[in-house]
Amino acid sequence: MNVFQKDYLMTAGPTPLPPPVSQVMAEPILYHRSPVFIEIYERVLRRLRTVFQTEREVLMFAASGTGAMESAVSNLIAPGDAALVASCGKFGQRWAELCDSYGARTLHLEAQWGERVDPDEVDRALSEASGEVKAVYTTHSETSTGVINDVRAITETAHRHGAVVCVDAVSGLGVVDLPVDEWELDVVVAGSQKALMTPPGLAFSAVSERAHQLAGEARERGAASYYFDWARTLEGQAKQQPDSPFTPAVTLVRALDVALAMIEEETLEGVFARHAVLGRAAREAVKALGLELFGPEDDNANVVTVVKVPEGVEGTAIPKKMRQDYGITIAGGQSQLKGRIIRIAHCGYYGAFDILSTIAALEMTLKELGADVTLGAGVSGAQQVFLEAGIPMAQPVASAP
Ligand code: PMP
Repeated sequence: MNVFQKDYLMTAGPTPLPPPVSQVMAEPILYHRSPVFIEIYERVLRRLRTVFQTEREVLMFAASGTGAMESAVSNLIAPGDAALVASCGKFGQRWAELCDSYGARTLHLEAQWGERVDPDEVDRALSEASGEVKAVYTTHSETSTGVINDVRAITETAHRHGAVVCVDAVSGLGVVDLPVDEWELDVVVAGSQKALMTPPGLAFSAVSERAHQLAGEARERGAASYYFDWARTLEGQAKQQPDSPFTPAVTLVRALDVALAMIEEETLEGVFARHAVLGRAAREAVKALGLELFGPEDDNANVVTVVKVPEGVEGTAIPKKMRQDYGITIAGGQSQLKGRIIRIAHCGYYGAFDILSTIAALEMTLKELGADVTLGAGVSGAQQVFLEAGIPMAQPVASAP
């Protein structure tokens, strides 16, 4: 192991694990029907409701986030049903692919990558469809571009036209406020491996009464799902002693329990505030370095900071060099944005010095790739934000003398 080059994972999933989360996964495996596991399972389901800001049961599956997205299509869409996908990037496109796979009549409203979904456009598309659309599928945090959508306005629009809304919050949940019950979001999906500080492998669907009802109607019209059938999972989870219909990923559930306890201790407001400072510091660093941010200026864009590759620099070389030379993993652009942007993620177990180290390495990398940057300029921009925020940068170590 090259200690001189420690690893920093600055990608939007998987994200680093807090040590207590890693440690609990080394414990012996529990039988999923044992009282000790049932107690953990029940607690995790309760803690999930806190993070989703909902009273409803949050359905949990052993899958990556896409599994929960798939459940939102397979349960709600019967072949031939009209669905509107309002996308603004790669993960929004996934909704359209899923809808096509389940035989939907997919209407796809695509915003430019780097722009937000426009609720007025959603309104127009739903009007043109004359009330036929059963469900609107959209994205909270579009990880491929860094854009945060106005989910509340999109939801109000969908509801005015009698459609339910399904929100992909895979990267945004636990970073940017998304009050599921207050905003009357019908379906919200997420995964374990980003802000929830747990390895990949758990997927969640928070499903409203209304969406469960619609799923029942869709089933009568021919919608089909087995592992991801919401009614089956709900029946198991809602028992006095919750009981997953299939073997739950017991080790990941234990890990999630520890991670959610950490969120509970920090408080959800505290978690949002920390991400807001991290996002602001990253954006200020980028600007101080003379680089341009990709996408609209937005105080809520705190999941991933997306930067345009400066003129004359080979875009794909930046993440490659940062990883190889400095052990810092960031992401480049996907699909049409390949080589044009870099993405520095900070959703999850991140603190001030993760940002400062990453910016320092970015400066060194850009300089070596021939860009006109001043070493320390970006770091200084971020430092300023952290000092002004005045937050404690570290917890006292309990065992220190
Ligand atoms: N949606 C968004 C916004 C994402 O960021 C991701 C993962 N990067 C996904 C969906 C897909 O999740 P998974 O890879 O866990 O299936």
